[in-house]
Order: sequence, then C-alpha cells, then structure tokens
Amino acid sequence: MMHKLKTLLFPPKCMLCGAPIREREEICPLCREQVVLNAAPPRLDANGAFDAATAGLWYEGGVRRAIHGLKYYEKQSYARPLARVMEYTLRHKLGEEIDLITFVPTNRKTERRRGYNQAELLARELAKRCDAPCVAALEKTRETHAMHDLTPAMRKENVKGAFCLCCDPEDVRGKRILVADDVLTTGATLSECAAVLKEAGAARVYGLCAAAARRKTARPLEYLEKDEKDAKL
Ligand SMILES: [Zn+2]
Repeated sequence: MMHKLKTLLFPPKCMLCGAPIREREEICPLCREQVVLNAAPPRLDANGAFDAATAGLWYEGGVRRAIHGLKYYEKQSYARPLARVMEYTLRHKLGEEIDLITFVPTNRKTERRRGYNQAELLARELAKRCDAPCVAALEKTRETHAMHDLTPAMRKENVKGAFCLCCDPEDVRGKRILVADDVLTTGATLSECAAVLKEAGAARVYGLCAAAARRKTARPLEYLEKDEKDAKL
C-alpha cells in the first residue's frame, strides 16, 4: 500500500532525461540507446601511468546532472545504474580482464562531510556485477584543490604525489587493476593512482569512469567503435 502510494506521488523518472519510466528501470529506452549505447567517449592510451582509461558516457546534459546528484545531492542510488553503464563499457569497450577493482580516494574532510565517496560507491556496485573484488587500495596523503577550474598542467601539479598505497602490497602485486572514478577529464588523477599501483607491482592498471568531459584542446583521442548491437544493460 505504502509502496503504491509512493509510486503514485513520485512516479519513477529516467535519471538522465526525466521521462516517465516503468518501475525498477533507471534509464528510459531512448536514453539507453542514444546516450548510453551510442556514446563513444574517448579512450586514452598511454597518456599516463595507466595502460588505458575510458568512460561510459559523455559528461553533459542529463548525465552531468545525474553525476552531480550522486556527488553533491546524496543520490547514492544513482551509483547502481551508472555502474551498470560502466560494466557495459568495461566489457564492450575497454575489453580487458580485471582481477581487482579499486577507486580514487577523496579528501578525508570531504568524505566526512558527504558521508560517502562516490567513486567508492561506483567501484562497489561495479564489483558486484563483475567477477572481481573491490579493495580500498589507495588513500590521500594530502588535501588537494577542487579540479574544475584548473588547467591541465595545474591539475597534474595538484595531484602529484597525493596518493599512497593503504593495502597490503601483496593484494596488488601482479594484478590487473581497474581504478573507478566519476568523471574523466585529463586523466591526471587516474595517472597518479596508477603510478602508485604500478610502483607496488601491479601488472596492468586501467581507469574507468562513469563519464568523460569533452575537451577542445585535447591530444588526439582514439574514439571507440560504436557497437551498440547485442548490448544488454
Ligand atoms: Zn531518459
């Protein structure tokens, strides 16, 4: 009864465009096709310490609003559908085998205030869907500035040496590790995280974000093939 009333008062809406949807679906069929399956975010290869990095969606429009919701407005429930998109990206676009999933750590202060780390939520949801454990492998050694207004060079400087290993090095040695985060911009943060993991003996490190920001002055990016066919989200 309460459930029916809730559905009546708050009919389920697509998290990306707000269109009405059936219960238990988070993304409407149109967004699934146009925003998710047709999305071809950049894949960065060897632009940092990681082996490859990519994202599931473009960071714009409804995707941007959804990620803001996850990050700033306590919409922890958005982590699950975003992780589904990331899983699709991992399988169909990154196409690499993974032994372990970890995430970009946040400032302790930020996490205390927010109560959670959105990158960790994404990693944990992703781990549930993949055959790999989620391990908190990294922590911040110092506070960093918010990145949005920084130039690529400043971003690099801002995160330089900002992370260290916080798990047993045996957990990462020889492993193929996926580092999850919410937004991929220059890859500076992922590169720093990858450098720490490689230093500890990780065999391969991949970055996977929920969304990627478009850049005008980027290095040439290798765009991924569209393979929206047999996709099941
Ligand atoms: Zn939609």
